[in-house]
Amino acid sequence: MFKSKQIQRQRQVLVVDDQEINRDVLGLILEDDYEVIYAENGREALEKIQENLDSLSLVMLDLIMPEMDGFEVLETMRDDEEMSSIPVIVLTAEKEAELKALRLGAADFITKPFDVHEIVLARVARIVELSEGRQLISAAEYDKLTMLYNRNFFFEYANRLYTYHPELHLDAVVMNIEQFHSVNALNGREFGDDILRIIGNEIRAFLSETEGIASRFDADRFDIYCVHQDNYHAVLERFQNKVNSISPNVNIHLRMGVKPWSQEVEPIVMFDRARAACNMVRGDYHHPLMIYNDDMLMRELLNQRLLNDLRSAVDDKQLQVYYQPKYDIQCEPPKLSSAEALVRWKHPELGMISPGSFVPLFEGNGLISIVDDFVWREAAQQIAAWKEKYNFTLPVSVNISRTDVFDTTLVDRLKELVEENGLDYSNIKLEITESAYTENSKGLLDLIDSLRELGFAIEMDDFGSGYSSLNMLSSMPIDVLKMDMKFIRNIETNETDRRLVQLVLDIAKYLNVPVVAEGVENEKQLEILRNASCDLVQGYYFSRPLPADEFEKLIEREIATERDR
Ligand code: C2E
Ligand code: MG
Ligand code: MG
Repeated sequence: MFKSKQIQRQRQVLVVDDQEINRDVLGLILEDDYEVIYAENGREALEKIQENLDSLSLVMLDLIMPEMDGFEVLETMRDDEEMSSIPVIVLTAEKEAELKALRLGAADFITKPFDVHEIVLARVARIVELSEGRQLISAAEYDKLTMLYNRNFFFEYANRLYTYHPELHLDAVVMNIEQFHSVNALNGREFGDDILRIIGNEIRAFLSETEGIASRFDADRFDIYCVHQDNYHAVLERFQNKVNSISPNVNIHLRMGVKPWSQEVEPIVMFDRARAACNMVRGDYHHPLMIYNDDMLMRELLNQRLLNDLRSAVDDKQLQVYYQPKYDIQCEPPKLSSAEALVRWKHPELGMISPGSFVPLFEGNGLISIVDDFVWREAAQQIAAWKEKYNFTLPVSVNISRTDVFDTTLVDRLKELVEENGLDYSNIKLEITESAYTENSKGLLDLIDSLRELGFAIEMDDFGSGYSSLNMLSSMPIDVLKMDMKFIRNIETNETDRRLVQLVLDIAKYLNVPVVAEGVENEKQLEILRNASCDLVQGYYFSRPLPADEFEKLIEREIATERDR
């Protein structure tokens, strides 16, 4: 814990309370560090404030008192130019009163019976210090709904704590509500607001037991800057239990990310990392807590690097397109029917980077469109080049990322590529991952309709990896289904997987949609799929993704086979 003595100087504090016992307790807590003066009611308080205008650092004010209550004192102080600059901490036992007091300009509150003494002292010290730096820091500003600090004030405050009180070793904690928009949509905004208020109240209760500050950063994100807690599982559980107890009939899940204190990291970065940790457990109801660790730091540094390097990667031709064939296995021998364009990044220092490491990163910030644009362009030119060189048309599918889908110029961009390269629309196929379908159905369906009208074939990628159900297939406008690799992986040994694959194939057949099985690595898998009347196969068994010049051998072989067919 912190050493409160170090951070306090002799300042004058006025304690206002009609109960002698309360005055005594506060006096005891404060007297070592402050010169304490007392008043028994509001009227006396205002007199004392007037008398000590120049020396008074803080007023600690009870709300319910005879003669003149605390609210009237607050109002009078707020409307007086000189008195309004003296901070007030309200002493209270009930929530409603707290909120009203905060709105009337109170800087903070302390609940009765008095919190842990160190905390009372620490809060007094903070408020005094903050108010002494008035030029730098604005008056406390609150989020209207939760009455926690608003984002700007919170970070101003946090920066000061970081700069002037490094001994506190404060952790950054970010808490979020899963799918808050659905909670709102299903139960109404008012319900959503209630939940936010309840969490806000519980955070303030938490901070009356432990040193720290908190803010509602935005909609459903709460930032807490507090002294280290030994068990963050318990902290999260506390909030979760509170929410459960208030709304037992609605499932609300909280998640939390923590960036433990470290000397060289400023609050803004600490909270970025806590947020990153919090985002990592999005949707993982079984493990809703993540503590930021070194791996994440390495990952973050790498991400930063990749983000910085992307532009030059395109300019310096570090990005390359590889092609992986898809074979029609109902022919004998199997027939090369198309290919998938897959991006590769040959980084001058980091070596070969697989798309798994950067596609999700660039999807997160829209930069993926730079990558995709490059890949689509290359692929379109390649199709044209092979047509020219071999008089052979090999359709190539390109991946459309989930964020490309929001790009209003997408249709025009693709159209342009086809026209510029003298292609037919059927030469380029578009792979859209299954999860994009579930994420933004309406907009996506409209987009797909216009793409299909032009003549593009749409392949649903990674089918079975997400949440779409088999019966959704019938309502989806798709031309080809790509079954996710995980179905194929154990198909030789696992009876259930085999039946599932058969089921998907049967339904697809019924719907008249050809299926591509991805990730086929051996003969046995191939045989099972062939017998289950799967049409197309993509996988290492036939070939890994290859650079264009190596892929040409497959085209040449195909042309030769074609002659013999
Ligand atoms: P995807 O579209 O499902 O692509 C198939 C992935 O499976 C490729 O990984 C491919 O190399 C891999 N694969 C193919 N056959 C086998 C096999 O037999 N065994 C195994 N274990 N893996 C196999 P890759 O190239 O690493 O790409 C990963 C993902 O990155 C792709 O999944 C796709 O979602 C994304 N991606 C790749 N290129 C692009 C691109 O240009 N744009 C966008 N937006 N995403 C891309
Ligand atoms: Mg794909
Ligand atoms: Mg796939």
